[in-house]
Amino acid sequence: ALTATPLLETRSLTKEFRGFRAVSGVDLAVERGTIHALVGPNGAGKTTLFNLLTGFLTPTSGTVHFDGHDITGKAPEQIAPLGIARSFQITSLFEAMTLQEHLELALASPTGLANQWWRSVARLSRFRKRSLELLDQVGLADRAGAPASSLAYGQKRALELAIAMALDPKLLLLDEPTAGMGLEDVDRTIGLVKSLSAGRTVVFVDHNMHVVGSLADRVTVLQSGQVLAEGPYDQVRADERVITAYLGA
Ligand code: ADP
Repeated sequence: ALTATPLLETRSLTKEFRGFRAVSGVDLAVERGTIHALVGPNGAGKTTLFNLLTGFLTPTSGTVHFDGHDITGKAPEQIAPLGIARSFQITSLFEAMTLQEHLELALASPTGLANQWWRSVARLSRFRKRSLELLDQVGLADRAGAPASSLAYGQKRALELAIAMALDPKLLLLDEPTAGMGLEDVDRTIGLVKSLSAGRTVVFVDHNMHVVGSLADRVTVLQSGQVLAEGPYDQVRADERVITAYLGA
C-alpha cells in the first residue's frame, strides 16, 4: 500500500563536534498534521538536532528532507521560506518595540519590504491586520500597542509563538515552550499550542511530561545523540529503557 511521505524525515543524521557525536545516526519521521515531542536528558542532542533541522548547523553526515525538498546542509534563510519556523527558548524580543511592531517586522522579514513605496503601504496595512489576528490567536490583542518590556514572562513566550506563526509555517519547532513557567502558564501554553497546531505540524522539546502527554501524538526519546525509543506517549513512557534513562538507574 502507498503510504504518505512524512513532512519531515532525517536519515542517519549525524553531527560531530571535534569527533564527539552530539547527534548520532538519527532516523526521525514526523508525519503531517501531528504533534511530535522530542525528549531526553540534558546533553541528549535535542538542541543540536533542532539546529540541524533549521540550518543553524550543518550535518557531518546523513540527510534531512522536508516537504519534498532535500534541505541537507542548506542555510536557515533557504530553509525558513520552505515553511519551517522556530520559536526560541531564549527570548529574542526587543524590549522597547510594541507587540504589533514585533509582528509587523516578522511578517515583513520573509519577503523583505517592497522597493516601491506604494507596495510597502499596501503591505503595511495587510501586516497591521494580520499582526492583530496573530496577537489575538495568542490572547495578546489588547496589548498590541504596549512595549514588549511590559509583558509578564508567560506573555513573552506567547508573543514568541505569535512571531513564529507569522511565517504561516507548515512545521513549527518549539524549543521548551513551557520552560520556567508556573502551572497556570503551562496549562495556557498547552491550550495555545493545541490551537496553533490546527492544520499544521509541530515538533517540540519539553522536559515536562505532563506537557508531553497532553500534546504529543508521538514521542521520540533521545539519549547520547541516538534514538532510544519512538512511539505514542503511553508506549514510550512504559518502555524499560526510557525509564532507566530517566531515572539514571
Ligand atoms: P540537549 O539539547 O539535549 O541538552 P545538546 O544538543 O545541547 O543537548 O548537546 C548534545 C551534546 O553535544 C552535549 O554533550 C553538548 O555538550 C555537545 N555540544 C553541543 N553543541 C556543541 C558545540 N558547539 N561544540 C561542542 N560540543 C557541543
